[in-house]
Amino acid sequence: PAAPIRVLVTGAAGQIAYSVIFMIASGQMFGPHQPVILHLLDIAKMADALKGVVMEIDDGAFPLVAGVVATTDIKAAFMGIQVALLIGAFPRGPGMQRKDLLKMNASIFKEQGEALKNYASRSVKVLVVGNPANTNALTTMTQASGLPASNFSALTRLDQNRALSMIAEKVGVNVNKVKNVIIWGNHSLTQLINRFLCYNSRVPDVNSAYIQNYPSPSVITPVSTAVNDEKWIREQFIPLVQNRGAAVIAARKLSSAASAATAVVCHMRDWVLGTKDGEIVSMAVCSDGSYNVPKGLIFSFPVTCRGGEWTIVQGLKITDFIQSKIDLTIKELNEEKEAALSFLN
Ligand code: NDP
Repeated sequence: PAAPIRVLVTGAAGQIAYSVIFMIASGQMFGPHQPVILHLLDIAKMADALKGVVMEIDDGAFPLVAGVVATTDIKAAFMGIQVALLIGAFPRGPGMQRKDLLKMNASIFKEQGEALKNYASRSVKVLVVGNPANTNALTTMTQASGLPASNFSALTRLDQNRALSMIAEKVGVNVNKVKNVIIWGNHSLTQLINRFLCYNSRVPDVNSAYIQNYPSPSVITPVSTAVNDEKWIREQFIPLVQNRGAAVIAARKLSSAASAATAVVCHMRDWVLGTKDGEIVSMAVCSDGSYNVPKGLIFSFPVTCRGGEWTIVQGLKITDFIQSKIDLTIKELNEEKEAALSFLN
């Protein structure tokens, strides 16, 4: 049998973790034959709740779980890990200034970046989920000097999945027929909009997307043709994707958790096991200057994955409308970056 993979989940007593841990344990992230050792980290005041999560892992009797390290100690949590799902973050609260949120999170992710540098496997794959995710990933990467920039990513897959599902519903096809919707830019701040910010930073782009076997088998139809309603795309679809998180909060009185966990699984599974031929997914990764995004910014790009490495898909056509939105998200991420870096010294 394969050697177990050591997977760290932070914020392990939180909502998203409560879904994602059980998906990992049941083999959805690394496949049905890959054992895992779960490293679960939370803060001291959550230690009891974390014990309860461990009891439930035990009670699941998962054959793939080769061990559990549940701890509030950073060193024990990060020791030897090969995958890091950084979900825990300082939550925004009513009346909280953006600067304060960035500051609190800079200190958390600074410590975790250092822990990655000191204790994790050199090939550790890091996925930051805790918001503001792109900038938290940037802080982590900056502090984990010596680890390759290609080890770091942030989650925009939930936005991608939301977009795929909305297009599928509009056209009236199963979601697995919709391919290559791209999310550019930043995942993080849209949920903040409704409270105290006014950026629309994630940019869903259907201009490279198509519908497979539609309207008949072996035919491929561009999404723009199948939808045939540019006004709907600009005025309904894009805002719906951008505001979906807030809609879930309004309905559930809690933020999305199971769908966020599903997106975490999709992101890491594709990174480790590879994307399907011809299929593009979105991951926020360190920009190499592609599409004129400033080098070093953590930015969501279209990627493919092979052999555990992601590659930015080049040469996609970007319309002026999408470019104007990308320009805004670059501006926002640059501002966040400046603020976060100013807190690190
Ligand atoms: P959740 O598990 O619901 O969310 C965790 C983080 O994921 C939040 O920052 C949240 O952002 C973010 N997130 C990113 N994408 C999404 C999405 N699409 N939908 C919802 N959330 C998204 O939070 P809980 O409060 O339930 O749990 C957090 C846990 O983290 C707690 O147990 C807490 O103790 C722990 N924690 C751990 C730290 C550490 O390990 N050092 C530090 C701080 C907290 P958003 O805020 O925008 O909803």
